[in-house]
Amino acid sequence: MRPEALNFLFRDVTSLSGVGSKTAVFLKKLCGQYLVDLLFHIPIGVIHRPYQIDRQKIISGNVATIQVCVCEHVPAYHRKPYRVFCVMTDTDCAVELIFFNYHADYLTKQLIVGQTYFISGKIERVGATLKIMHPDYIVKEKSLIPEFEPIYPLSAGLTNKGMNKSIQYVLAHLPFMPQWLDEAFFLRQGWPLWNQAVQMIHHPQNPTDLMATTSARTRLAYDELLANQLSLFLARAKQKKQAGMSVPSPCSGGLTEQLLQQLPFELTGAQKKSIQIIQTDMNSSLRMIRLLQGDVGSGKTVVALITLMQAVEAGMQGVFMAPTDILARQHFDSIQKMLGNLPVRIGLLTGREKGKKRTVLLNALSTGEIDILIGTHAVFSDDVLYHQLAVAIIDEQHKFGVRQRLSLMQKQKGMNVLVMTATPIPRTLALTAYGDMDISVLDEKPANRKPIETRVLSLLKATELAERLAVKIQQSTERLQVYWVCPLVEESEKTDLMAAEKRFEMLQKIFKNRVGLVHGKMKGVEKDGVMNKFANGELDILVATTVIEVGVDVKTASIMVIEQAERFGLAGLHQLRGRVGRGGTQSICLLLHGKHLTPTARERLKIMRQTDDGFLIAEQDLKLRGAGEILGARQSGLPVFKFADLSVHGDLLYTAAKDAQMIINTDPQLATPRGQALRYLLYLFKKDEQITLLNAG
Ligand code: ADP
Ligand code: MG
Repeated sequence: MRPEALNFLFRDVTSLSGVGSKTAVFLKKLCGQYLVDLLFHIPIGVIHRPYQIDRQKIISGNVATIQVCVCEHVPAYHRKPYRVFCVMTDTDCAVELIFFNYHADYLTKQLIVGQTYFISGKIERVGATLKIMHPDYIVKEKSLIPEFEPIYPLSAGLTNKGMNKSIQYVLAHLPFMPQWLDEAFFLRQGWPLWNQAVQMIHHPQNPTDLMATTSARTRLAYDELLANQLSLFLARAKQKKQAGMSVPSPCSGGLTEQLLQQLPFELTGAQKKSIQIIQTDMNSSLRMIRLLQGDVGSGKTVVALITLMQAVEAGMQGVFMAPTDILARQHFDSIQKMLGNLPVRIGLLTGREKGKKRTVLLNALSTGEIDILIGTHAVFSDDVLYHQLAVAIIDEQHKFGVRQRLSLMQKQKGMNVLVMTATPIPRTLALTAYGDMDISVLDEKPANRKPIETRVLSLLKATELAERLAVKIQQSTERLQVYWVCPLVEESEKTDLMAAEKRFEMLQKIFKNRVGLVHGKMKGVEKDGVMNKFANGELDILVATTVIEVGVDVKTASIMVIEQAERFGLAGLHQLRGRVGRGGTQSICLLLHGKHLTPTARERLKIMRQTDDGFLIAEQDLKLRGAGEILGARQSGLPVFKFADLSVHGDLLYTAAKDAQMIINTDPQLATPRGQALRYLLYLFKKDEQITLLNAG
């Protein structure tokens, strides 16, 4: 149960006076549902409204507050706006208030002749007169005008004044929070208490108060990171405590060894090392929950297969889940190929397997006639029953959040889980996103790879480039194939799609019937058809929106063209580039950019040209964009922080991780006074689910 003291902060935003159902919709979309979400909505600017009684001190163009007495209203006429003439109190200084498109009725009531008001706004000096256009405040009491007014990020339908009022209300009723930080640590840092810190964040007095390095912001960032780490560690402790399905390690001469012998390549050292760790994990009586991080092309699929084989060899089952149909099919094919004639029964289940075919498959699965099931998230539909599922492998799962992972892990008691991601993410991010798992890294690429040559050129050269590629393909003795990527972003899906289709037509003129097009709006079967033709070599060039971003493996494809490369993040570019360079051919990546490049975009393209190291690129990406945007964090399942900025607070994260580990070790039930206080922290950051785990014991 949430402590009562927190009830106020978890009131709905509609409980605020002045927030009607309409405003609430906007507010919820921007900040969240509860008052606490407003508290976590932090200012991005500050307006100083000094109260001026001496007109000499007023600097033209600056914001200030003055007191005036109203003399006369002059309604709008011809092209002139509505004007209200006033005199500044205790002076003979004329003040002119100017209003465009205002109702006279409203203004005559708002500014009554003969009365005095406090007016705040941007003041211009024109000769001896002070002019204010549309004052921000017209009030009777000076106290109604904040001297320092925070500026908040807003959306349509919201005003800064309204936002301020709501947040100030929450601040005025803030319940006092217990101390959840270690007292000695807290004193050493010299940070403010939580309540003070929150007040300080919302009462900036100059731009430096808005920086991520202030003591208030640092403290709140630490709290946020601690909540993140603690919740992950709680989830992990809970998972780990569950007895795992113990799967004996493969025996010599068994299926796994036969498989290794028939592979056309030798495993890399990194592959061998990861496989060994995984085999030990699987064999242990504790559940395996491991993340395998490996750059594109590092050879995760074979590691997955050998992991699955351990279950098969022990007479159990394994499941391999991919994020898309195409990928699931591709895994199915490549696994089938690698298995050759080995007696392993594999099945494919995606949203497209329906009716009788599906029934037969599910039946075989539940009786144990299928050893390995490969598919999309369909493999965890409620009616899919396994005979004895020992391990689940989840590929390319940066699109998954901790919560989804948790629910997936509940599907099968004790099931071992291996999550594979091709997105090399910086260590800090890995800790915040995957702190609930053990992590292995495939930090070595298969030896036969030649580095990909990367060039940057203008989009204006597209036609010329296409013609040159056509000639090159014809003249080459090696088989060459080209991916041509046109970006498809959600906001402008329609126009992007049209652009891709236009590019396809242009390329058709050059490549005739040897060019194909795939995009996200196509039906699965249709898409597969085109992809297959490309994979079989019937097509020379494949125009694609980002659907090929994850995972496709065509060895003879050695040229990657990316249009409007400036629209992709570094991670996205790196993923795309990783689609080529998988065979022995020298591969090329051509980044075509539009006319207007921001400095950040320019920097990104430069980094792409300079390095092929996914981890380095990820670190740079973090620096350039901040963690919030990396990989398009919101869709990616990576946590989005309100206070913490990992490019600034990275060190803080490691401290929080250590702190969380210490807490889990010494007070796993959060029962001590500090533990009790930490429960407040977890609730504040909406880690209710993890607290439930705790209460369940
Ligand atoms: P990813 O990690 O991106 O999923 P894949 O598993 O698709 O990488 O492997 C990329 C390619 O490298 C595949 O064609 C695979 O057969 C090949 N491969 C994997 N391991 C090795 C290795 N040790 N030596 C040579 N080629 C390998
Ligand atoms: Mg892969």
